[in-house]
Amino acid sequence: MKGKLYLVATPIGNLEDITLRALKTLKEVDLIAAEDTRHTLGLLNHFEISKPLISYYKQNEKTKSEILIQKLLEGQNIAVVSDAGTPGISDPGEEIVKVAIENGIEIVPIPGACAFVNALIASGLSSKEFTFIGFLSAIKKDKREKLEEIKYETRTLILYEAPHKLKGTLEAILEVLGDRKIVLARELTKIHEEFIRDNVSNILERIDEVKGEFVILIEGNSESKKDLELSELNNKTLEEHYEYYEAQGFDKKEIIKKIAKDRNSNKNEIYQYFLNK
Ligand code: SAM
Repeated sequence: MKGKLYLVATPIGNLEDITLRALKTLKEVDLIAAEDTRHTLGLLNHFEISKPLISYYKQNEKTKSEILIQKLLEGQNIAVVSDAGTPGISDPGEEIVKVAIENGIEIVPIPGACAFVNALIASGLSSKEFTFIGFLSAIKKDKREKLEEIKYETRTLILYEAPHKLKGTLEAILEVLGDRKIVLARELTKIHEEFIRDNVSNILERIDEVKGEFVILIEGNSESKKDLELSELNNKTLEEHYEYYEAQGFDKKEIIKKIAKDRNSNKNEIYQYFLNK
């Protein structure tokens, strides 16, 4: 019989956040695949769990996945853990899940801490709809390009960032997205847990006081790209509006219908206007 692959969430700071099910799973599996075996050994020692560990991190994800799949096919049960939080969320995990599915292996998620979920629910920003971005590229040009791509996103945006890159990332956010309302969720579940809710520029002014691990949450754009384009169109003259659609190859009847819809006005009035031209 094939073994099962468990994806076990571990604490993001406070060790009391480990779940009973996570502990039971870690005690019962045959092997634990860990992002950093030394780090996980600390966790296991704390809970008096003794288990064989194998390293499984981003750079060796592909080759290690093959080894782990072989063991799963032989019947071993394996738990994947990352250094903190939920595996597969800006952490290794995705690769082995894909290969395990291809090999018909059962995958069992063991829920627990995840930094962005806790940051979001306490942020005060809309949690109805959100876009999780994770880490932006460290390359300045790529970072800006990604921010340009999400500029008109109306949902709450969520980023992860390394402490020493926070200032540069906030500067890029200010430049590309504007002086939006943001929330820095700092040191979640730890003694110095804090939520800093302010505009980007105000936070940048006191950035040197801001220390620790962060999730960055950004209020979505108040107007979608479509709304902005529509208001730009409606600021044009009727003739310019007409030319805009004409250049896209629409015929007169279609153009009039479109203009009336954009301007929320009567089709016949628009028709009459162009009839007299
Ligand atoms: N897999 C993890 C999860 O489920 O959230 C995320 C791992 S990712 C490599 C690390 C990033 O998560 C950090 O750079 C930071 O942005 C965020 N993070 C992790 N722990 C945090 C904490 N205690 N407080 C605030 N942010 C945290």
